[in-house]
Order: sequence, then structure tokens, then C-alpha cells
Amino acid sequence: MPNMSQTKVPIPEQDPKVRARNFEEVTLGYTKEMALEEASRCLNCKNMPCVSGCPVGVQIPVFIKKITENDFEGAYNVIHATSSLPAVCGRVCPQERQCESKCVRGIKGEPVGIGRLERFAADTHMVQDNTVIEKPVSNGHKVAVVGAGPSGLTCAGDLARLGYEVTVFEALHKAGGVLMYGIPEFRLPKDIVQKEVENLKNLGVTIMTNMVIGKVLSIDELMADGFEAVFVGSGAGLPRFMGIEGEALVGVCSANEYLTRINLMKGYKEGYDTPVLKSKAVAVVGGGNVAMDAARSALRMGAEHVYIVYRRSMEEMPARREEVHHAKEEGVEFLNLNNPVKLLGDENGRVRAAVLQRMELGEPDASGRRSPVPVEGSEYELAVDTVIMAIGTSPNPLIRTTTEGLEANKRGCLVVDESMHTTKEGVYAGGDAVTGAATVILAMGAGKSAAKSIDEYLKQKA
Ligand SMILES: Cc1cc2nc3c(=O)[nH]c(=O)nc-3n(C[C@H](O)[C@H](O)[C@H](O)COP(=O)(O)OP(=O)(O)OC[C@H]3O[C@@H](n4cnc5c(N)ncnc54)[C@H](O)[C@@H]3O)c2cc1C
Repeated sequence: MPNMSQTKVPIPEQDPKVRARNFEEVTLGYTKEMALEEASRCLNCKNMPCVSGCPVGVQIPVFIKKITENDFEGAYNVIHATSSLPAVCGRVCPQERQCESKCVRGIKGEPVGIGRLERFAADTHMVQDNTVIEKPVSNGHKVAVVGAGPSGLTCAGDLARLGYEVTVFEALHKAGGVLMYGIPEFRLPKDIVQKEVENLKNLGVTIMTNMVIGKVLSIDELMADGFEAVFVGSGAGLPRFMGIEGEALVGVCSANEYLTRINLMKGYKEGYDTPVLKSKAVAVVGGGNVAMDAARSALRMGAEHVYIVYRRSMEEMPARREEVHHAKEEGVEFLNLNNPVKLLGDENGRVRAAVLQRMELGEPDASGRRSPVPVEGSEYELAVDTVIMAIGTSPNPLIRTTTEGLEANKRGCLVVDESMHTTKEGVYAGGDAVTGAATVILAMGAGKSAAKSIDEYLKQKA
């Protein structure tokens, strides 16, 4: 008989006042008892609607059933059969818009906590894991992967399992992409990401860091060097700015730069020589996950006031509800329906205030959301010493401008067909480099599809 409770088993979290000043993980994860109780809420529907909401097709009711049977390793194996990063997805996937949005328990109450259960299975596996990964027998074919984010790592893993000799070329000094440089430690501990990277290495994948493709080597050079196919998973790491007066002042930076210095370059740790802005009052411009991460990081870096400045209302905010809720609990102040129009500097050239204009909501725009309309004469000054821009990113043009025949659309995203093949023979692409900034699971799904296509392409060629 399923547990008919209308609410999820709550997940333990660090106290908001305490966690707002440390970088340790906010959400602590289910105990075995909690996981068993939550798993018993699953109705094990025959038609598995939740699976249709998962971009990599995890067999959700099957793994949850294994949890109810106390077979946690079995649960992990079911997830791992289709998802290469379960511990990551269990933490950062927007389940409320994906698998959980399709759960029939959500019709009358809260859906089953699929993400929480996925994390439980993955963490339990990680603690107990002593399996020796066997390297598959090589089929003698070489594939290059550009970028070690979720799309590149997934593509590399799937191809390595098929026997390909895969080399991943990563521009930064650590593999993981946004999982390492963007998403903060308090949401996704970095040792979890590195454990997944180690698993890939054990599978035989070679990872070469500090290799900026388009500078150190070009894609054409990789192909001339014996790589028979290339997957481009270089993400969308180029930040946008607003183009307003004062953006060149000291104390104004992109969220990507701010988060990279803190996460990847460990700016939050004592003893690391990474320069990071020390701030008293911070305005983070934007309303997505990146803005929430930057704001919550600024609090942890010691800021007294952190404001989210977002031109639309709370309802239109694209960030996950959970992130907004956590940010509010921790003391981030939300200035919705506000937009910066100018930044003012002090005598040393550091930003001292943002001039904000109030907005109201007008007619829906192309995105279907009501568009913000400025209220004339409503400008006022907000005293801040740091402004962090989190208003979106686009793919870096380096690869497409150094590779002949690689076409991009007007947003700078690489053009691919349904098999993820680009406009250049033998070159495939996926993840944010193709879609623009999206999600971890979509990037993984793209890496998976591309690996399948590359395998078919190389088999045909042979
Ligand atoms: C701060 C932040 C928070 C986020 N939070 C979430 C979340 O909670 N949930 C969620 O699902 N998604 C989230 N996202 C989005 C998600 O992380 C991305 O959609 C996902 O990482 C895209 O994966 P990718 O593999 O396409 O690219 P990336 O993760 O960007 O990886 C691309 C890699 O390619 C490398 N690279 C770039 N150019 C080159 C080159 N020329 N040569 C070699 N290497 C190169 C980069 O250094 C990087 O390591 C967040 C994004 C950010 C920035």
C-alpha cells in the first residue's frame, strides 16, 4: 500500500543564518529512513509519465522501487544506465519543471521527491563504491571532445564505453565546466564532480586541461592529427553586459567571473591567493539561477547587504523556486520591477551607487512573459560598492571563428542537424554551445545523442 502523504518527506538543511556565512552544502540529503518513506509515495505507474519528463530517460519508477526494496546499489545502477552524473543531477536538475512536473502525485499535493531520491541513491553508492572500472577494449578509433562540461563528459563517457579512444580538450585547469566554475560549492560540492571525472579517466578517457581549442590547436589540426570525429561541447560562457554608463567602473563584473574566482580558483578559502571583490553592499542584476548563485555567494563572502535587481516581478523570475526560497531565507533582498540605468563611481573609480528605475508590467512579449515598462521619473540611487551582471551568456565565438565551415545562428549558437552534426563534416556539437544557456540535463542529453551519432558515423565510414 503506497504512502498517501500529500507532502514530500522534508530534506534536512543547514540553518539559514549559519549557512549564509559558510560554503558548506545547504541541503544535507535524506537518511535511509527518510528515503524509504519518500520512495513509498511512488505509485509505480505503469505508463511512467515521469520518465517522459527526463531528457535522458532515467527509468524513475524502477529505481524508486529498488529503493523501497532496500536495494540502493540496484537503484543507482538503474539511474546510471542512462545518466552519467546522478549525484550532480540529484542536486541541480530543475526536477520541478521536468520529471516531477509529470508525477501524478503532484495533482493532489506534492510530487514524489525524485531528485532527492536520485541524490540519495547516488550518494549511498559513492560512499560504498569500491568497484573497479574496467577499461573497454579499444576499437582503434580516435575521437576528440572540446570542453569538459556535462555535454562533453557525457559524450566522452558514452564513446569510451563503446571502445573509442577519447581525448577531452578543456580550456580551464580543471574538468567539469559550469559544474566546477559556476555552480557554487554550497549547492554542488566539487569533490562530487571530480569523482565523476575520475570515473571517466578510469574508463580510459584522456583529459587534457589548459587546452584552448582555437588558440593552442584548431579543430582542423585535431582532425589532421588522426581524430576521426570531434564533439564540440564548449558551452555558453561569454557574459552579456547591459551597455549602460558606468559598467567599466571598478567593482562591476560578470557573474561568471565572480563565481569562477570564488569556485574554481577557491577565492573563498583561506590561503588561496585569488583576488576577489570584497564588498559591503552588492547589487546582482538578473533573476535566473546564475543571479541567485552570485547573490548567495556574495553573502558568504561577507557582504552586509545583497540585492537582487530584476526588471520583472517575482512570478516571471526564471530561477528555480528552491533557489529563490533559499536566497530569501539567507537574507538576500529582492528588488523586483527595478532596472539599473546608470552606475555611479567615487573619486577612486569604484562603483558607489546604481541608479535604478522602477518598472511596471505591460503586455506579454515574444517569450510570453509580461514585458517590463519603465516608469518615467522613478529613478533613485541604491548605494552599492559592487555590481554583478547576471543577465545571460552566449557561446564564445573562438571556435566558430577559427574553424572553416562551422556555421552559427545569429545568437552565436552552432547550427546542428537532428543527429547533432554541425555544418562541418565529422564535427558534432551539443549542450549550451548549440542551445545557448540551458540546463545540465539537457547538455547531458545532447552529449548522449551525439555519442550515438558519432558511433553510427564512424561505423559507416569504416
Ligand atoms: C552559475 C550557474 C548556475 C547554474 N545552475 C544550474 C542549475 O542549478 N541546474 C541546471 O540544470 N543548470 C544550471 N546551470 C546551467 C548549466 O550549468 C549549463 O547548462 C551546463 O553546464 C551546460 O553544459 P555544457 O557542457 O554545454 O557547457 P559548460 O558546462 O559550459 O562546459 C563547457 C566547457 O567547455 C570549455 N571550453 C569553452 N571553450 C573552449 C575551447 N575553446 N577549448 C576548450 N575548452 C573550451 C569551458 O571551459 C567549459 O569547461 C547553471 C549555469 C551557471 C553559469
